[in-house]
Amino acid sequence: DGANRGQRRGTGRLIVLTGPTAVGKGTVEAALRAKHPQVWVSVSATTRAPRPGEIDGTTYWFMDEAEFEAKEAAGYFLETAVVHNMAHYGTPLQPVLDHVAAGIPTILEIDLQGARRVRHEAERMGLDVVYVFLAPPSYDELVRRLVGRGTENEEQRRKRLLTAREELASEHEFDVTIVNSTVEAAADELWDVIAREYGLPATD
Ligand code: 5GP
Repeated sequence: DGANRGQRRGTGRLIVLTGPTAVGKGTVEAALRAKHPQVWVSVSATTRAPRPGEIDGTTYWFMDEAEFEAKEAAGYFLETAVVHNMAHYGTPLQPVLDHVAAGIPTILEIDLQGARRVRHEAERMGLDVVYVFLAPPSYDELVRRLVGRGTENEEQRRKRLLTAREELASEHEFDVTIVNSTVEAAADELWDVIAREYGLPATD
């Protein structure tokens, strides 16, 4: 719990933001960053194709399977996952360690499988992690958001909905749940979790 967390002695602390597909992790994270530029959000590697407007090295590090696998074999990633059975995603380890060591509020925005893998690795490394589960107001709302985004074809959407249903049942595994009713309120709640963890002022 919160009181014990502050007393634990580790090599550093970080926040994992996870939740079902299309719940709005990226949007909440962007709103948080706009308000609190001191937060650092890890840039993941992925083998999926860039969407219009996505920039290599900013949104993701885009790479092909061969490069991803070589990096994975070389121990480059803190965690990796195959998301929706389609593409590989991974969190580069060293930048996370560097930011954590510098005491910079650090966020990983990753899927649930990745969050579970971080739990395993973080314990080994002595990292103090707060796991935040971003939940949709309801399953129906999640479906609406997924369809509304319009970035997936029919087959991709079907896979994501199946995944989402399972993912919604995972909330109890994590430390804190934030319901994403509005982006602004969710971003403020996320900041309050960060503020508590890093001893910074909460949202007024
Ligand atoms: P998208 O392709 O829509 O950007 O992201 C798909 C899913 O992959 C999202 O749930 C996102 O949180 C997750 N994701 C992004 N980066 C990583 C990562 O480095 N590791 C893991 N495990 N999941 C990630």
